[in-house]
Amino acid sequence: MSNEPKVAYFCMEYGITSDFKIYSGGLGILAGDHMKAAYDQDRDLIGIGMLWKQGYNEQIIKDGKPYKAYPFETERYDFLEDTGVKVKVNIRERDVHAKVWKVDCFDNADLYLLDTDVPENYAGDEWITDRLYGGFNEHRIAQEMVLSIGGVRALRALGIEPDVYHFNDSHPVFAGIELLREKMEDESMWFDDALREVRKNVVFTTHTPVLAGNEVHPHNLLKYMGAYQHLTVEQMVAIGGAPFSMTAAGLRLSRNANSVASLHEQTANEMWSHVDGAAPIVGITNGVHRGTWTDAGVVSAFADGDNDKIWDAHQAAKQELIDLVEERNGVKLDTDKLLIGFARRAAPYKRSDLIFSKPEIIEEYLKSGKVQIVFAGKAHPLDDMGRKIVTNLIAMTEKYPNSVVFLEDYDMTIGAALTRGVDVWLNNPRRPKEASGTSGMKAAMNGVLNLSTLDGWWPEACNHDVNGWAISPDGIEAKTAEDFEGSYDEKLAQLDEYDVTNLYDVLLNKVLPTYYDNREKWVNMMKESHKDTYEKFSAHRMLNDYYELVYAPKNN
Ligand SMILES: *Cc1c(COP(=O)(O)O)cnc(C)c1O
Repeated sequence: MSNEPKVAYFCMEYGITSDFKIYSGGLGILAGDHMKAAYDQDRDLIGIGMLWKQGYNEQIIKDGKPYKAYPFETERYDFLEDTGVKVKVNIRERDVHAKVWKVDCFDNADLYLLDTDVPENYAGDEWITDRLYGGFNEHRIAQEMVLSIGGVRALRALGIEPDVYHFNDSHPVFAGIELLREKMEDESMWFDDALREVRKNVVFTTHTPVLAGNEVHPHNLLKYMGAYQHLTVEQMVAIGGAPFSMTAAGLRLSRNANSVASLHEQTANEMWSHVDGAAPIVGITNGVHRGTWTDAGVVSAFADGDNDKIWDAHQAAKQELIDLVEERNGVKLDTDKLLIGFARRAAPYKRSDLIFSKPEIIEEYLKSGKVQIVFAGKAHPLDDMGRKIVTNLIAMTEKYPNSVVFLEDYDMTIGAALTRGVDVWLNNPRRPKEASGTSGMKAAMNGVLNLSTLDGWWPEACNHDVNGWAISPDGIEAKTAEDFEGSYDEKLAQLDEYDVTNLYDVLLNKVLPTYYDNREKWVNMMKESHKDTYEKFSAHRMLNDYYELVYAPKNN
């Protein structure tokens, strides 16, 4: 692999292990799995991130409502190695110092983390790396500047010369501005030439297809913060538009860009078609790190192929989850009854409570325990709608105390226990809002059958009634809000009605009869699920795609 490009991967969060709280959710888990795959494959790739003092928030449920809590990390993680390198970034016209740590858990695939909690900093600046996604505006921009500009300077100080700078999501795009500054100041290039040169080395991954999830910043604020470096307003507008769109900037600063699933490739290309000078967006479907996310007992039973062994291994994983639920929530679920898992960030389009929409249909199954459901998922601390969704779910656990549970504080431990321990993985976002969704991949590899709208990654894997189920009338036809008439709210209401009708139809007429009356078909479906996903949706395959489709030098 000696001709292979050297890659510096920039990301705001990394999910490496459950207790190293520098991640919040999907983006971080993906980055962690990317690093682990790079390590497994002995790739020449390093990561740049932030040493958050407090990762996201811990979630505490009190009186039926979620509260956030930020436990303070008093101890340093003992696997962090001090590189001795410090960098400076000028923010709000004063130097902010950041120390560079190395995570000593990968031999190759080193991960470097920036930390502003150093004595040289002016009061307040040590708090820039206080908490992941903990602030808006000035605070967020300062964090992004440390990650991006500080990250490039850390590479220079460490003597690492990447061929490719990979911006995973748009938080690191100011690194592109820093690369431009280097070309313009140190090599006296004109802006246009510098931009052309910078683009040769930058690649960009876009994530959310929900517009509100794509950050924009006002130019006066960016200028005040120092994110312009020495660029002019015209040059910054040429890169990110006005207001400054971080995603548009990522697309204009890169030579290749990618989305995170095939359906998302279409959605992203339509969504950003107005951005002139953008890199082409190709689809690279996410994958998950098998060593982290699959159950060894289940995987070896699949390799053996014996149906009884597969079922026993699955039941053992289910029992472990049921024990965890009992320990945490005091609820004893039944190992011999269907157990559905649902864990997502509480965003309205994910519709966590869709399954409860019509009590006249679903209630009898929840009361008898024929359907049991475990939920997990955090709301963004500043998102009231999300908090309301979690509050609704808690109300359901009170209504159906023996069959509906909510596990507090969704993290990698809970994610792993759920995606190997339930029978069915439910996912019902409004199409086409889900970029990819990796938890369903973890489930599928463990023989947990997906029951999902045809969104994100699922259209690429779903073989309806063979390896899981589509929430649609015949396993194919799937609608979006645009297929209905009326105002936007009316369209959404009709889509929700359409999807919940199909959800109940598949659940009551396919899932339940197969589970309770046809064990052989069920286990055969588990085998199909494992077979169709174990390689195809692995981080190993994903990383190979990145090397082939976006990291490889462009020949033109
Ligand atoms: C896998 C995982 C995610 C990402 O799941 P999505 O399906 O992409 O939402 C988020 N959080 C945790 C804890 C996970 O394990």
